[in-house]
Amino acid sequence: MTVQPQAGSQAELLGRYSGALMNTFGPPSRVFVRGEGAYLWDADGNRYLDLLSGLAVNALGHAHPQVLGAISAQLSTLGHVSNFFATPTQIALAEKLTAFVTVNAPELPARVFFTNSGTEANEAGFKITRMTGRTRLIAMEGSFHGRSLGALALTSNPKYREPFEPLPGDVTFVPYGDADALAAALDDTVAAVIVEPIQGENGVVEPPSDFLATARRLTAEVGALLWLDEVQTGIGRCGDWLASSASGVTADIVTFAKGLGNGFPIGACVATGPAASLLTPGTHGTTFGGNPVAAAAGLAVLSIIERDGLLARATAAGEHLVAAVTALNHPLVQDVRGRGLLRGIVLAEPKAAAVAAAALEAGFVINAPRPNVLRVAPPLVITDVQLDEFVAALPTLLEA
Ligand SMILES: *Cc1c(COP(=O)(O)O)cnc(C)c1O
Repeated sequence: MTVQPQAGSQAELLGRYSGALMNTFGPPSRVFVRGEGAYLWDADGNRYLDLLSGLAVNALGHAHPQVLGAISAQLSTLGHVSNFFATPTQIALAEKLTAFVTVNAPELPARVFFTNSGTEANEAGFKITRMTGRTRLIAMEGSFHGRSLGALALTSNPKYREPFEPLPGDVTFVPYGDADALAAALDDTVAAVIVEPIQGENGVVEPPSDFLATARRLTAEVGALLWLDEVQTGIGRCGDWLASSASGVTADIVTFAKGLGNGFPIGACVATGPAASLLTPGTHGTTFGGNPVAAAAGLAVLSIIERDGLLARATAAGEHLVAAVTALNHPLVQDVRGRGLLRGIVLAEPKAAAVAAAALEAGFVINAPRPNVLRVAPPLVITDVQLDEFVAALPTLLEA
């Protein structure tokens, strides 16, 4: 017997949503029922070009046949075992991720703790920092690291933090990308410094190009860990496995999630060098983390990105988008920032929410992480022609 959810019109489903789900996200404006490649369909049959990928998640687009095949093959072979036991898929995925993280220092030992989300990957990172014997942490203004109490303690947005204070930790926030402020805040009481290579939730903001290397040097000088949150930027989104690799640094902790499972929930906390041995039996755990089905999804995603050359494609597509938006020469577009296919279109007026709403009406999914910034994070498989469709519509959308 198959159990099918009751289909209904969008209006009817949205009415039921508000009665059945907590109102944490605000009322949704669409109910999506199907996806294929870079397209989504709503419950009324309308088609949308997905330029957000479930928030930088569906890197290979929707319903990728090989990811689906890998998931169903694993599920029909072995769907789950407890973490008292191992599976070949989780080991293979861990080896891949550790190689990505140590690409600039292949001799370093590295180990993974698997989770189900970015927040949980950051919780694992937080616990690793406590195992150093130090408790002070430094995070960046504008940061986003998740919504659990630990991850929230590292997140700077007062609107998210204040209702839940007191939060754990002893966290100092310094301006993002400000090496002098970081140097002034650092001393040998600091356990770790956590940095996003690009701040996605803050509106796709990049630090100065030498900031990560400076942060690496400064943390090493005082024996603090450098922790990079690549939950949004990693796994090809910015044109490389890690957005931070080009800086030459090797971090002590790197966290991943969003793009890793193409929609199947999985996160990972990777630690290198001495930090790779700080969590010991009993200090941390998870029931689902490292589940073989999630690991099979992750392995499939990595092998398809490799096989199809999607790292280079993310870079080329991102440059195509920037060139096309810039060529509009539109007075409302101030800048297009970011890297690869994580882009922020910076507007001269704080009307990004209205533009994103107009885009949805016109069949394009984007979002507005800041009042003046549109975020574009399409699947890495998006074509130039599809990107051009959005850019052609943009002048009309900007009139919203
Ligand atoms: C989304 C995000 C998180 C939280 O990940 P979840 O999977 O939503 O828990 C953490 N850090 C960054 C940089 C993110 O973009």
